[in-house]
Amino acid sequence: MTDTHKKKPDRSLSDAEWRQRLTDEQYRVLRHKGTERSFVGECVDTKSGGIYRCAGCGEPLFSSATKFDSGSGWPSFWEPVGTDSVVMRVDLSHGMRRTEAECGHCGSHLGHVFPDGPKPTGERYCVNSISLALDPDDAGGRDADGE
Ligand code: FE
Repeated sequence: MTDTHKKKPDRSLSDAEWRQRLTDEQYRVLRHKGTERSFVGECVDTKSGGIYRCAGCGEPLFSSATKFDSGSGWPSFWEPVGTDSVVMRVDLSHGMRRTEAECGHCGSHLGHVFPDGPKPTGERYCVNSISLALDPDDAGGRDADGE
């Protein structure tokens, strides 16, 4: 993938800089494609309105308006905020063929995308809580009931 993003510094952070920026658990998940345990993440049951930003770089990833309760134990969304905000990759690890989702800005691992989500997209972005930071003050966010 070519790196043509306007704000590209986050793509060039060194491993040491990532270690400094993130907590140990964030570093494991975001930079080494780890997975947090289900049902323990801070954002799993959150229904507040706002924008979920990347915990690695702060770029907006998902709106609370597209969050739904998937029962998986991880925050789930049916659509990212923008076409470039989340990038998909084929993930063949652990003997499975899955679609990995990563931040389009800094490349941090977010989670996986599955084709069993609700309408209108039918997609389920299954995201680690620790990869997200809810920004409740951001205008435009609605709560999970769409109100
Ligand atoms: Fe990011």
